[in-house]
Amino acid sequence: MDQPKFIKPRQALMEHLREKGIQDEQVLAAIGSVPRHAFIQTGLHDRAYEDTALPIAKDQTISQPYTVARQSELLAVKAGDKVLEIGTGSGYQAAVLVEMGVSLHTIERHAELHQQARELLHQLGYRAKQKCGDGTLGWSAFAPYDAIIVTAGAPVVPGSLKEQLATGGRLVIPVGDQGQQLLLRLTKQDDGSFQEESFSDVAFVPLIGDQGWG
Ligand code: SAM
Repeated sequence: MDQPKFIKPRQALMEHLREKGIQDEQVLAAIGSVPRHAFIQTGLHDRAYEDTALPIAKDQTISQPYTVARQSELLAVKAGDKVLEIGTGSGYQAAVLVEMGVSLHTIERHAELHQQARELLHQLGYRAKQKCGDGTLGWSAFAPYDAIIVTAGAPVVPGSLKEQLATGGRLVIPVGDQGQQLLLRLTKQDDGSFQEESFSDVAFVPLIGDQGWG
């Protein structure tokens, strides 16, 4: 599925992200290895390694590579960590995290995207537990998680996700209105409270669901 013509652009993207401030070598190596073009339609392949979000089916997007890298870095994961992703979309972010060695669980609300990502990840050899449903409720069967990443913009931090985070775990989530959000990281403390840090402004498609937008 990979092609030699994509290797140089992918290396160039990795260097671009390093220059933009991504420091986690594990994240950079994963971006340098996952074939992003495979996650988008053929007509957009020439733009696959530009640092930009691109359209996928169901009016959704594959996130900008910088955002994927930044969110992955903020998760501060190590190989073997159990991670939950909300918003599988194309499956690209999932592949990056699997490449980093985590045990990944991912939820997508659109059946078509869920199915496409399931087939593609399998085809590319990325193993992840995938489910179609409302990710704002989390996935309690496998909780607690060492890290949770939300790849759609939320009005508030869903309580279920906070509950399903392990002590010391990190939840990285864009929170704001439907046009713009602030990227937050919540770290669960020993007493069950959360330390909250805020990072850059971002613009994600909305998180739709019981504890998202209605
Ligand atoms: N991580 C994706 C990727 O690498 O392609 C980017 C996903 S896109 C920015 C956000 C995704 O979140 C969309 O596919 C959307 O359908 C999904 N989504 C929105 N609300 C959701 C919910 N409550 N549960 C699960 N998925 C949801």
